[in-house]
Amino acid sequence: MFPELRFTEAEIRKMIDSATPEAVVNSLAKEKRNYFDLLNLISPAAMRFLPQMREASQKCRRRYYGKTVTIYAPLYISNSCVNGCKYCDFNIRHKYERKSLTLDEIRQEADAILAMGIDSLLIVAGEDPVRMSVDFLCEVGRMLKEKFSYLSLEIAPQEEEGYRRLFEAGYEGLTLFQETYNQELYRELHPVGPKRVYDFRVWSQLRAGRAGMRNLGMAFLLGLDEWRLEAASLGAHAIYLQKHCFESKVQFAFPRITATEGGFQPAHPVSDEDLELMMLAFRIVFPECGMTISTRECPDFRDRMVQLCADNMSAASRVTPGGYALLADEDVGQFTLNDSRSVAEVESAIRRNGQEVVRKYWDRAL
Ligand code: SF4
Repeated sequence: MFPELRFTEAEIRKMIDSATPEAVVNSLAKEKRNYFDLLNLISPAAMRFLPQMREASQKCRRRYYGKTVTIYAPLYISNSCVNGCKYCDFNIRHKYERKSLTLDEIRQEADAILAMGIDSLLIVAGEDPVRMSVDFLCEVGRMLKEKFSYLSLEIAPQEEEGYRRLFEAGYEGLTLFQETYNQELYRELHPVGPKRVYDFRVWSQLRAGRAGMRNLGMAFLLGLDEWRLEAASLGAHAIYLQKHCFESKVQFAFPRITATEGGFQPAHPVSDEDLELMMLAFRIVFPECGMTISTRECPDFRDRMVQLCADNMSAASRVTPGGYALLADEDVGQFTLNDSRSVAEVESAIRRNGQEVVRKYWDRAL
């Protein structure tokens, strides 16, 4: 569980399992909800209130985000990785040919993304402290800042000083998945590499917030452990960050993990219904926080969730370094994409649903 959580796993489980329909109704009726409301709204008892939760979530979404949907694209710049995460095909034990893009290749990829009309970029790299050093990532940031309004990172955890330098180089946000808050399972799934150290990972957003990063993205991998316990930790982690990094915005993602080519099978698959319940609960309890829905999900589900709760979605994603312009088709992707629509197709679906596309939503000058 999240280390600062004051309840044991058994206590959290009991609170979730014993939530009654009345408790769910009470949590839904409140104007301002707290942590215990989150436990009620992710409980099995909440499942029969899905229609009411959709309504409450949509109201919260409209109050804070109106009809706007922001779009971004991930730019994978390296799949070289020194870790041995058992659920990922980038892991060091897999004998795939690795690719780390040069500055010039990154520029070509970025230009291809710009040409699609994207203005917000998430730079993604496997964990390789030599090829993907802070110095190199700063160079990338300074170059891309000339082209994009908003840059964020999904990279190996850094020390606070590293995050400060990255912020100064032009990055405004950090996304980092804890993978699992279950410390024993975490050790089992991360047998080799620097990622073995749970504590260094779990305090990454705190260090990034202290260093100035304005968006702090967080998630666990859905499928590794029981989702309700993981969601209880995610909620506690978010509240902790809101208290300690109050100048930054917390942003949730809910990535479902799938089977990998290397043979990994998720032990606790999460159904569409469970995922929807969890996303609605987080929107209702954390109405001001950002919420992303990625191309791991299929178009119908994404289009529906972006109306009910999510405010940010990726479009036309490629998860192979070089996938936008250099066409390195033979490389391995990190996970399966389920929405292959172009940016224009994603935008037209958003508009068809009565929402507005926001390409640029950030300007550091302001
Ligand atoms: S999940 Fe990340 S750190 Fe782990 S093997 Fe994959 S790319 Fe490396």
